[in-house]
Amino acid sequence: MKLAKNLERLGTESAFKILADAKKLESEGRKIIHLSLGQPDFKSPDHVVKATKKALDDGHHGYVLPNGIIECREPERVIIMPGGKPTMYYAITLFGEQGAEIIYPDPGFPIYESMINYTGAKAVPINMLESNDFSINPEKILSLINNNTRLLILNNPNNPTGAFTDKNQIDQLAEGLKKFPHVAILSDEIYSRQIFDEKKMPTFFNYPELYDRLIVLDGWSKAYSMTGWRLGWSVWPESLIEHVIKFCVNNHSCVNAAIQYGAIAALDGPDDTINLMMEKFTKRRKLIYEGLNDIKGIECVMPGGGFYAFPKVIGTGMNGKEFAKKCLHDAGVAIVPGTAFGKKATDYVRFSFAASQDNISKALENIKKIIE
Ligand code: PLP
Repeated sequence: MKLAKNLERLGTESAFKILADAKKLESEGRKIIHLSLGQPDFKSPDHVVKATKKALDDGHHGYVLPNGIIECREPERVIIMPGGKPTMYYAITLFGEQGAEIIYPDPGFPIYESMINYTGAKAVPINMLESNDFSINPEKILSLINNNTRLLILNNPNNPTGAFTDKNQIDQLAEGLKKFPHVAILSDEIYSRQIFDEKKMPTFFNYPELYDRLIVLDGWSKAYSMTGWRLGWSVWPESLIEHVIKFCVNNHSCVNAAIQYGAIAALDGPDDTINLMMEKFTKRRKLIYEGLNDIKGIECVMPGGGFYAFPKVIGTGMNGKEFAKKCLHDAGVAIVPGTAFGKKATDYVRFSFAASQDNISKALENIKKIIE
């Protein structure tokens, strides 16, 4: 068999590999605390489950429109997707080819770089480590743009760093982007409902002047604890809609009909689950931030959004990869090395605090024991 050359350039998301390693240890009788996966540890809201079951009972089991059922995708230009990821895949595929450049956050969600490389475009990293709090620096980003730049990918709040960039900086960036009308923007806002300290989401929807080249990625996975449902939405410029719908038709035809009724129930229903999650995440954030900084050799910035902490662990005498391995094998705690999100993040690891306070406390205690 001769495989396509570009497959050699396709990366992956190693959090799933770490999950497999942890599961293997569990099958051998080891007790593992899972702080590696990026998914809320709450049940999907009851009213969402009920609405989905009802949709099936009502006979919504057939094909539906490739861009989603009409009730689920008001207003215009929304496309319902099977998760957040397909929007990334399609957006990058629409712009990526040899000679093109695509700017992306580094460290960042690994699929950005993987897909850019796959298309043959040049992946141009925004070095997020340069800023002490990992936040978006508008000047730095604008300086990376040239005539070959086709797409700028941003993710706020950020995975893996937990950084939150506030509206002032996003305003400056949006203003600067006006000078580069050839650059499309993919704003990954999947953590838009998980922002701490009562701050508001500085969404790119605030800039109508960019709508003709703005793609906003969001979804139900993180906000409503629905990662396994595979359900996302994105808003596209008018001129791209027909191409994206073609991708949908060629690829997945349409999103599961019944769960789109659940999706409507989530959007229309009470925000109890989100509020409860944020209450818990707020306590866990404090616990993990204080606990990590209390361990000799570990420095952690206070996360501003999402449910991740991204401490520097090089002070323990280990790099991120060695540290994560030791945590899994000696402390029974699964975490992800920083390099899973970008080659430069050698000194870091990512902790997900989507776990109970008891589990976080126990994990911190176990790690402290093996490090000190
Ligand atoms: N974007 C970011 C920044 C993420 O962290 C994730 C998932 O971890 C996604 C998108 C993908 O979300 P989904 O599981 O809905 O495909």
